[in-house]
Amino acid sequence: MSEFVNVSEIFGQDVFNDSVMQERLPKKVYKELKKTIEEGKELSLEIADVVAHEMKEWAIEKGATHYTHWFQPMTGLTAEKHDAFITAPMENGKVLMSFSGKELIKGEPDASSFPSGGLRATFEARGYTAWDCTSPAFVRHDAAGAILCIPTAFCSYTGEALDQKTPLLRSMEAINREALRLLRLFGNTTSKKVTPSVGAEQEYFLIDKAKYLQRKDLIYTGRTLFGAMPPKGQEMDDHYFGVVRQRVAGYMKEVNEELWKLGVTAKTQHNEVAPAQHELAPIYAPVNIAVDHNQIIMRTLKKVASRHGMRCLLHEKPFQGINGSGKHNNWSLTTDDGINLLDPGKTPHENIQFLLVLTCILKAVDVHADLLRESAADVGNDQRLGGNEAPPAVISVFLGEQLGDVLEQLITTGTATRSKKGGRLETGVRTLPDLVKDATDRNRTSPFAFTGNKFEFRMVGSRDSIASCNIVLNTITAEVFREVNERLEKAQDRDLEVHDIIKEFATDHQRIVFNGNGYSKEWEEEAKRRGLPNLPTMVDAIPALTTPKAIKLFETFKVFSRAELESRAEIQYESYAKAVNIEARTMINMTTKQIIPAVIRYTTTVADSVHSVGSIEGMDVSVQTDILKKCTQHLKKVNEALHHLNEVTDIAAAMEDGRERAIYYKDTVIPAMADLRTPVDALEILVDKKVWPMPSYGDLIFEV
Ligand code: ADP
Ligand code: MG
Repeated sequence: MSEFVNVSEIFGQDVFNDSVMQERLPKKVYKELKKTIEEGKELSLEIADVVAHEMKEWAIEKGATHYTHWFQPMTGLTAEKHDAFITAPMENGKVLMSFSGKELIKGEPDASSFPSGGLRATFEARGYTAWDCTSPAFVRHDAAGAILCIPTAFCSYTGEALDQKTPLLRSMEAINREALRLLRLFGNTTSKKVTPSVGAEQEYFLIDKAKYLQRKDLIYTGRTLFGAMPPKGQEMDDHYFGVVRQRVAGYMKEVNEELWKLGVTAKTQHNEVAPAQHELAPIYAPVNIAVDHNQIIMRTLKKVASRHGMRCLLHEKPFQGINGSGKHNNWSLTTDDGINLLDPGKTPHENIQFLLVLTCILKAVDVHADLLRESAADVGNDQRLGGNEAPPAVISVFLGEQLGDVLEQLITTGTATRSKKGGRLETGVRTLPDLVKDATDRNRTSPFAFTGNKFEFRMVGSRDSIASCNIVLNTITAEVFREVNERLEKAQDRDLEVHDIIKEFATDHQRIVFNGNGYSKEWEEEAKRRGLPNLPTMVDAIPALTTPKAIKLFETFKVFSRAELESRAEIQYESYAKAVNIEARTMINMTTKQIIPAVIRYTTTVADSVHSVGSIEGMDVSVQTDILKKCTQHLKKVNEALHHLNEVTDIAAAMEDGRERAIYYKDTVIPAMADLRTPVDALEILVDKKVWPMPSYGDLIFEV
């Protein structure tokens, strides 16, 4: 059976973490580096040289032959270029292994092929990667051997961010500054730093690799574009939290071990709602590390699946009619000395600082609901949001009974005098201990839910980077903190002013609070009455990036310049158009080359049967004729829809890049895709399984 794993021994073994640095770096160098990491002091080249040397020696001991600046361009993925440590051969024909401080802190990949949204003309290909020393370097082992990966930020020649990391780090500085300022006003003199803490739960599907390879739609687009529902879906709820199948269990074990070695705290795993769907969650970490770790998790899930003869699908909606996958972004604000600003304590109504922070976040989310929605916009996510499985596209905040009640008191009387208690949960079984009940039940339908001592943003798509939503959360919160800081610093009577602000924010922004069922139709209508933005698709959401309000927000905190925002919007329109174009072309290809020929083959056999069996006296061929009739009718519809899809896709592809084209894909191409899908799925149910050119939904999700 499986061998014994000593987790504490393997944990972090491939990471150049604090204890490795402390052990290997000269004391002075270590101290300087720590200052850079903790206080953002600039790193001298001299220090970097020593760090680089030790990092290289350590990596070589781990078997590393190459290093790479590992970065996160605006593709949502990670990128890297490998360089061997070797130097030019010496006279004796041998090479040395070298790695300088300069190579550690700065890289220059040819950046011309990464999306820049007009920030950089292709002839000015210069892009720089700069070491983010707050996220530790690590050695990754795979078919390429062992590679030292150095987390970096990626910028253009003129300093504009070309990645997700740079604005994230900028937003962390913004929230740190304003949150510390607020803490000082509340008499805190000891905390030195406030960091957003994030734990991202990751959902994914596992399917058999051999079957995956028989589906062009999965190969090219990551999701199925055709597929009739199997007789059984997820209605029995027998998968959720069910016993993990042995093949999958073996996979999870290996995923965990790989992640632990890389210092990723893989903690929780379970089966999810849909058959073949699973979840993995690490323990929360500082947000920039959480972002890196989530990328490592996604890559590891894919890599290990391949070794086990499976494929891991990270698409938000691999199968129509079956739950899709998302990512829950758990977010809180933590000081370096362990205070969580979102911890209400036992009696939230007495915790003024908490109430202020809470109402600030309410205001931030209300004012910038469109931006937060935009941060989760992704082509695949359009298939998922608003279904009965994921939050609606309308942003609202769930506070729960206890906090909702406190807020109510604040609004009606100006002060809160009591907090509802959780009480005891009686199990009714004498041998079971009574449990202390949470003061609030969970609400799974809210996009932004307060869950005890953190907010859980549940809108993010499973494939997407969690950087965007955290950039928004950090910056919008910093903006309201700043407003409050300015008011409090000016106030004659600070206590009174705090009190007034809490009441004002709670009252002015109560429309964003919703504790009911977010999946219901009534909520959509109610949200409309409240004037909350409803942005159902990615294309609807993108303009939020470049409103005067957003530009002011991001420029104030130097997170994005106007040019950076405009370029990001452009990239999003482009990537939307590209993704839908690939889907449409894939459908056209599959229909033309696989589906129509298969149906013709099948109908020919049936027609032969009509002739041959029909020629025998007294034989009834009504079944054959019936099938033949139905199939040819559907086939005709397929052909018409195919021609139409071809036409509109050609029109779209010939349009100029930008918003207009994205809208055309959304309003014209996507409906044409749906029109083709309907008759094809109808045929799948009629046609002999042996003839159908690809595995069915049933084959894919029930036979892993
Ligand atoms: P679930 O939503 O499934 O009940 P948990 O409550 O176990 O999940 O937590 C989900 C994620 O939230 C985990 O990654 C966990 O580490 C993270 N988390 C827990 N506390 C905090 C916190 N204070 N700040 C940020 N993330 C947190
Ligand atoms: Mg959750």
